[in-house]
Amino acid sequence: MLRIRARSVHPVTAPPIEDGAVLVDAAGRIAAIGPHSQVAAPPEARALEFPDAVLVPGLVNCHTHLELTHLAGKNAEREFAPWIRAIRALKDATTPEEFSRSAEQGVRDCWAAGVTCVADTGSTGAPLEALARLGARGVYYQEVFGPDPTKCGASLSELAAAVRRLRPLATGRARLGVSPHAPYTVSEPLYRATAELARRERLPVAVHLAESREETALVRDGAGPFADALRARGIPVPAHNCTPVQYLLRLGVLQRATGWLCIHCVQVDGPDIESLRNAGAAVALCPRSNRAHGHGTAPLPLFRRAGLAVGFGTDSVVSTGDVDLWSEAGAAGLEGSEALRMLTLDGARALGLDAEIGSLDVGKQADLAVFASTALHRPPLPSTALLTVVAGRVVHG
Ligand SMILES: [Zn+2]
Repeated sequence: MLRIRARSVHPVTAPPIEDGAVLVDAAGRIAAIGPHSQVAAPPEARALEFPDAVLVPGLVNCHTHLELTHLAGKNAEREFAPWIRAIRALKDATTPEEFSRSAEQGVRDCWAAGVTCVADTGSTGAPLEALARLGARGVYYQEVFGPDPTKCGASLSELAAAVRRLRPLATGRARLGVSPHAPYTVSEPLYRATAELARRERLPVAVHLAESREETALVRDGAGPFADALRARGIPVPAHNCTPVQYLLRLGVLQRATGWLCIHCVQVDGPDIESLRNAGAAVALCPRSNRAHGHGTAPLPLFRRAGLAVGFGTDSVVSTGDVDLWSEAGAAGLEGSEALRMLTLDGARALGLDAEIGSLDVGKQADLAVFASTALHRPPLPSTALLTVVAGRVVHG
């Protein structure tokens, strides 16, 4: 058992509690929360006190690429299409052991940043192995690539084999999903086949969608650097005369999108937002990554007005340098309790996990983080967690 007392405790679903405490039971769930004087202090509970800090739900990072942790600062390309190609070359030069170490370091970096749940996309499986080995919480989406429609079968067999290999590692805490990577790396039949596999196997899905103007040019006009690169490989590039979101709808894969996480969604218009809402899709926003690549800014106020489930992600450290979610909220203009809600309960809702995590409520998983009280100042300061707890276990601090 664990009992944590802090200067203020922020349940998110209720007002902050001055000099509050949380009691965690032996099963790793929240047994009690309230003012210090009213929360039981069983002698067998390990007591931790933070007189000048805030206790909050663990942060939910809705988009990471933890297998790329070792590549921070390694890609100096400025244009987006060559940047993507450079990442591919750097990955090709990485051994399985390096991916494994990289993913494990990524999980530990998240814990140090107060992140207790990640939605991670990758192609090696190393992040799911790391999550399972370390007892971390997250969803790992196995990526599938293949822009050439004639090679759909081979890409799909590879994905199915990866799912067979990884499925035994998945637990209630470390879950498995799939990710048809992006419109410039996935053919129409591969989108359909992957969506069908996800439906059949009941796996959640993550897609990079409507990120760059180059992606829109490819989908709408069959033009731009992605189109040129595909044509150079002999792959046909039709103009679809629509946005990337409408393209996935026309393919028939985004209609009933409960369990789908659409990453980025910068290049969207009003009808796109309505479509995403009607489909039941959730959105992961990565403001600092979008800024670093010059993609622009996602219309967060419109997403929220539409009632979409939206969380923040730090994307790969190659783009942003760290996994600091407070900086993502700050980059989107959010502060204080509004930032905290988006980084916790809203993020959990985007992943469909809000019944288990995202707020400090009795019965929920004890995923907690303690930050110096400056974390909730306006504007919030990038901060390392003083303590991070996943399912009642201290994993950092
Ligand atoms: Zn990404």
